[in-house]
Amino acid sequence: MSDDTIFGKIARGEIPADIVYEDEHAVAFRDLNPQAPTHVLVIPRRPIATLNDAGPDDAELIGRLFLAAAKVAAQEGFADDGYRTVINCNADGGQTVYHLHVHLLGGRPLQWPPG
Ligand code: IMP
Repeated sequence: MSDDTIFGKIARGEIPADIVYEDEHAVAFRDLNPQAPTHVLVIPRRPIATLNDAGPDDAELIGRLFLAAAKVAAQEGFADDGYRTVINCNADGGQTVYHLHVHLLGGRPLQWPPG
């Protein structure tokens, strides 16, 4: 699958990002427009546009994204206090970049429900 999004370029190392974690499957970097003291995006290296485009073969990969988010939460020091992970899907979900990503937000108490 081709991936011309900004996140695809970050995953391939073609443009810089403030990377906080990476492994064979995933890259995590700081959001340019943070909505919390820590706002990190975890993306698969393999491009998947939205959660709707993920299939059974992606189940392990999607699990890995959340495990990476938990690792970053521990690294950032707020795992015990708590944090939020979110995937926005398509227009009504607020998705603006069509390379699947998990938002990790932490470092302050978060409101519920989100807007
Ligand atoms: P979405 O709205 O769920 O698709 O989230 C996209 C996120 O990517 C937003 O929170 C943006 O602030 C963030 N973002 C867009 N471009 C960049 C970038 O080049 N580096 C880091 N974060 C970005």
